[in-house]
Amino acid sequence: MEDSIRLNAAEILCIGTELLLGQTLNTNARWISQELAILGIPHYKQVVVGDNTSRLKEAILEASKRCNYLITTGGLGPTNDDLTTETIARTFNTDLEENLIAIKDIRGKFTSQGIENMPASNQKQALFPKGAEIIPNPKGTAPGFIWSPIKNFTILSFPGVPSELKDMWAKTAKEWFQKNSFNENIFESRVIKFAGISESSLAADLEDLLEKENPTIAPYADIGEVKLRITAKAKNKKKADEMLNPLEEELIMRGKDHFYGKGDDNLASIVIELLRERGEKLVVAESCTGGAIGAALSNIPGASDVFIGGIIAYNNSIKKDILGVSQKSLEAYGAVSNEVVKEMARGAINLFNADWSIAVSGIAGPGGGSPSKPVGLVHFGIAGPKGCETMQANFGMHRGRLNIQKLCIVGGLNQLRLIMLTRS
Ligand code: ATP
Ligand code: MG
Repeated sequence: MEDSIRLNAAEILCIGTELLLGQTLNTNARWISQELAILGIPHYKQVVVGDNTSRLKEAILEASKRCNYLITTGGLGPTNDDLTTETIARTFNTDLEENLIAIKDIRGKFTSQGIENMPASNQKQALFPKGAEIIPNPKGTAPGFIWSPIKNFTILSFPGVPSELKDMWAKTAKEWFQKNSFNENIFESRVIKFAGISESSLAADLEDLLEKENPTIAPYADIGEVKLRITAKAKNKKKADEMLNPLEEELIMRGKDHFYGKGDDNLASIVIELLRERGEKLVVAESCTGGAIGAALSNIPGASDVFIGGIIAYNNSIKKDILGVSQKSLEAYGAVSNEVVKEMARGAINLFNADWSIAVSGIAGPGGGSPSKPVGLVHFGIAGPKGCETMQANFGMHRGRLNIQKLCIVGGLNQLRLIMLTRS
């Protein structure tokens, strides 16, 4: 066992037949892997098993011989195919014991939904191996647990539902690892975000820095955006911060025309923040995105003080009758044109008495393209206190409808952000 103490290694075991059938993508393993990396805990193996007692038992036993921490997800539910807790206890010949706090909590969750008689099957979710520490589950019914059945081997069990896992991990497991693991170094990561630049162009600007070994820089391309994850390996957070601060500054400086935010920021949250700082209001007039820009804005909690609404002007009749786009412009230039998005943007501002508007009209495909207006062509109109600007982009017909729409969201929000920052 001395060796494995030195190894200090974790393994991930995801349980669920739907994972083996390819019906559910194993995002839990990916997410936990990232968390382990941040904590600096070595992680060499992942296993997936179906809802099957003997194969689950075998996987647990094998892991107990190789690693110090086994993190499991799935199979904590109330149904017959949820076998995890029972199998873990049986693997180490231990009895299950009802946890009174857990049963009270599960009952309370049913009562709060107006269900007085909790289904009998849910009682099972309050049973844990004797001696286990419970991980409360604020978002669902299945609590998790932390249990060390043998020396130098601890199992941390979580439900399969990703949002529950993440919440529970952040509130308990993270701290548990910080206290109980023997890692010499921690890994600290930050994410810096850029819009309106391709991954290859940004990488070319940073070529000399990308070779760095500590901290490392990893670019990730997203739709219309590029993220840089910078990671430092250090003895403690203070040392990691000292390494990351100057690098972050340098990266922001080099990509300044395209840098828009960090961490959990997204373009919608940044636009909302800018509007709030200025005490101004935004509306949208959307054709090819069918309300998706509005949806991105309304995903930001509390957005309603600055994002006041919009019009989905999908059909030309709405562009004309509600937004006041002229028949003449529609006929002369077509719905996907600078003239029409300008009239849409102005119409929306007037209609709602707002300070800013984003208008978008484009050809998302797969049909509807022509040689002069191919699929992927999009026009944006941004109206504000100093007038209306228009711009067009050709996102390319190979992208596919959904990606063209996503590029419109990023493009529209980013254009507004740039105009707000530079021209008013
Ligand atoms: P529940 O109380 O919901 O039954 P559980 O712990 O029994 O929780 P499962 O039944 O295994 O969890 O999974 C619940 C849902 O969580 C699945 O339908 C699936 O959508 C999702 N899920 C399960 N495992 C994973 C995984 N490894 N990665 C991503 N999603 C998962
Ligand atoms: Mg289940």
